[in-house]
Amino acid sequence: MHCVLIIYFRNNRAFGVPDDDDAFETVASDLMPPNESRIWNNAIMELGGVACGKTPRCDVAGCPWREWCHAYETGDFTAPDVPSQPSFEGSRRQFRGRVIETLGEYDKLELSELGPRIRVDYGGDTGREWLRELVTDLADDGLVAVDETGDKVCVSLRE
Ligand code: SF4
Repeated sequence: MHCVLIIYFRNNRAFGVPDDDDAFETVASDLMPPNESRIWNNAIMELGGVACGKTPRCDVAGCPWREWCHAYETGDFTAPDVPSQPSFEGSRRQFRGRVIETLGEYDKLELSELGPRIRVDYGGDTGREWLRELVTDLADDGLVAVDETGDKVCVSLRE
C-alpha cells in the first residue's frame, strides 16, 4: 500500500520518519490526500527528482518543503538507506514511475502499448510478463486499475 510513498520516505529526510516500515506506512497513509493519489505521487517523485536527491539541493532548487522540512530545520541531512540503495537508473522503482507518468498522459493503455513507452528494450525477459507483474504490483498498491478482457490487459491510473 502506498508503495511509492514508502519508498520515498525510506530515502528522504523531509519528514523525520524513523527507519521503520510501520512508521513509513503510517506517515504515508496520513499524508496521502483523499482521492488525490496521482497528483500526490507525482509531486513527491518530482520533489525527489528535482531537489531532494542523494545530495539535497534545498536552496539551489528552491525546495518548497524547506519551511516544514525536518532535515532543513535540524541540519541533519543523513538518510540512512541512501548509500546502500541500488542505482535508480534501470531500477524497478524507475519503471514504476514511468508507468505512472505515462498513464498520466493517456486514459487507458493495453500492455502492448504501454510497454514500448516505458522502455526501449521492451520484449523478451522484460516484455509482457514482466510488465504484467509490474502493473499488478502497482494495482496492489492502489495506484493503477487493471482491466482484463480476454487476451487484452488494459491499465489506467486509479483516481
Ligand atoms: S528542504 Fe532540502 S532536505 Fe528538505 S525536502 Fe527539500 S531538498 Fe530535501
